[in-house]
Amino acid sequence: MILPIFVYGSPVLRKIAREITPEEPGLKKVIDDMWETMYVSDGIGLAAPQVGLSVRLFVIDGTELKEDDPSLDGFKKVFINTKMLNEEGQEWAYKEGCLSIPNIKEDVMRKSTITLEYFDENFEKHTETFDGMKARIIQHEYDHLQGVMLVDRINPLRRRLLKGKLMAISKGKVDVTYKIKAPQY
Ligand code: ZN
Repeated sequence: MILPIFVYGSPVLRKIAREITPEEPGLKKVIDDMWETMYVSDGIGLAAPQVGLSVRLFVIDGTELKEDDPSLDGFKKVFINTKMLNEEGQEWAYKEGCLSIPNIKEDVMRKSTITLEYFDENFEKHTETFDGMKARIIQHEYDHLQGVMLVDRINPLRRRLLKGKLMAISKGKVDVTYKIKAPQY
């Protein structure tokens, strides 16, 4: 089932998401719905708060960016109860987009290497280090679990320039090809 994407201004995007257990009702269905929603929206990652669920779950498929980084081909994973253990290395800039902030792309600085602990969809625990584009996609989705959005990470002047656009997005006044849910009309 395709779910509407909650856009900028939605309170759920500003909450710290809670952990889940294997007994979480409907978990498998939520994961399936998130994949479907992500692919139909042309996203490379989707976090549960973006579909209105304040839980520590996100999905990633970086395959679409394989031209830029061949190691992203088939980089498809479910992350549950992720804990960021370490972020290190040189900060680098990349123009990020977000399904919850349609039609905006902004340079975001992030550290190059991360180590995290997470559970996969079978609730098997992993501790893994990622770098480059893989790390960046994870950092972006992880931010959603912490109530952080990419516009919080851009320089204040850019943010001020985007104010009108962000306001329009929060009112649902934005041209998108996928289903959105805006907090105010
Ligand atoms: Zn996002």
